[in-house]
Amino acid sequence: MTATMREFRDRATIAIEDVRLQTALEAATGRFCTARAAALAKLPWVEAMRDQFKAMRAATLANLAQHLEQFERQATAVGAQVHWARGGAEACAIVTGIAQRRGVTLVTKSKSMATEEIHLNTALAQAGIQPVETDLGEWIIQLAGEAPSHIIAPAIHKTKEQVAALFAQELGQTELPADIPALTAVARQMLRAKFLAAGMGISGGNLAVAETGSVVLVTNEGNGRMVTSAPPVHVAVIGIEKIAPTWDDAALWLSLLARSATGQPMSIYTTVVTGPKRAGDPDGPEEVHVVLLDNGRSQLIGSKYEEILQCIRCGACLNICPVYREAGGHAYGSPYSGPIGAVLSPLLFGLEKYPALPHASSLCGACKEVCPARIDLPRMLLELRADLVAQGLASPVEQFLEQGAALTMRSSRVWQFVTAMGRWGQRPLLQNGRLTLPASLNPVGERQLPHLAAKSFRELWRQGEV
Ligand code: SF4
Repeated sequence: MTATMREFRDRATIAIEDVRLQTALEAATGRFCTARAAALAKLPWVEAMRDQFKAMRAATLANLAQHLEQFERQATAVGAQVHWARGGAEACAIVTGIAQRRGVTLVTKSKSMATEEIHLNTALAQAGIQPVETDLGEWIIQLAGEAPSHIIAPAIHKTKEQVAALFAQELGQTELPADIPALTAVARQMLRAKFLAAGMGISGGNLAVAETGSVVLVTNEGNGRMVTSAPPVHVAVIGIEKIAPTWDDAALWLSLLARSATGQPMSIYTTVVTGPKRAGDPDGPEEVHVVLLDNGRSQLIGSKYEEILQCIRCGACLNICPVYREAGGHAYGSPYSGPIGAVLSPLLFGLEKYPALPHASSLCGACKEVCPARIDLPRMLLELRADLVAQGLASPVEQFLEQGAALTMRSSRVWQFVTAMGRWGQRPLLQNGRLTLPASLNPVGERQLPHLAAKSFRELWRQGEV
């Protein structure tokens, strides 16, 4: 998908006018924000932990190749097979190749943004392999034929009434109660048979630990454990940046991840996969494969965007973002939405495909405040806006306005002249004492702003009014 100015505005407008979507988004993001704040407030040393975490992530990225090679050595030593994928197509070919070699026709999957990023389900289906999502939210959107709208809660945009109607339709029933325990029981019953029949389980990985060659998954539903232990083959697809050098680093990572994501001290299940099952193990996969996915990440190392690779996909920046909370995830046209998606999508998939996303922010700074790694998302959004202009991807109107603003701010005389003209020119745009920018002038829709004051500070000063 893409997100041009028009596409983003059109999709956001549909979302804003959808009362049910707004209700679902407001309830869920509000709940996550409250839970996060309460969980972090219980840690008196949380700010020091965040500083330490950021330093650890930066130091890891500075020596990423070394940590990845250590991971490969350790994982291979315990019997896992490590694959390197430069791009999405290569990763898909590796995974489908493993499935075909084993004669697999059904795979179960736990939630994985990396596999969303590379469109693995499409590749599997094209190879005649049926992928079944087993995270409840992912299963819901798979049934609905939709993309995830939140990185940790993919079906955040759906109310329980919509899910009940979807399940009833899929099960061929006339009606199901909009009751969450009843709906999860339906999902459990449907998915249990798939877990047992699947020839391969595919997961992502919240992180990989270099010192033992382990992949760590955090889930709240237990489906991750079924996917990684019931089928005879397990494949984990994980971005190359998700590496923790040691278990001490992993412990710090995990202690911030769940608190920032859902407000839990720990997720219900933390699963560690270190190679296939050993002699005497009652269960576990016979083969474990880890696909280390680059897909544009390595080109960010050493660039002004390297910091984005510190992200641990907690979703806190989405929940707090005023644009995401109104527009919803689908407006971004990418698996990654919200502030992290607004930066990551253009960097991984091309600025020319996502020119609207650097503008899908009010630059209020709330995302940076809540980010466990204190990633400076607003700075990178501004860098991307500058790149849009530098690469000739900004609209002619925007380029004209940017150049005009730069010219104006270089001279106090020009500034005084332009602001005087602005006070006069803003009159047709004033509504109820607010400057109202029409949607045609603003990529994220109609916007109200403070208007220029009747007198400038210089005039007030000259006239002795301050
Ligand atoms: S940018 Fe920060 S807050 Fe947003 S998902 Fe990544 S780690 Fe979480």
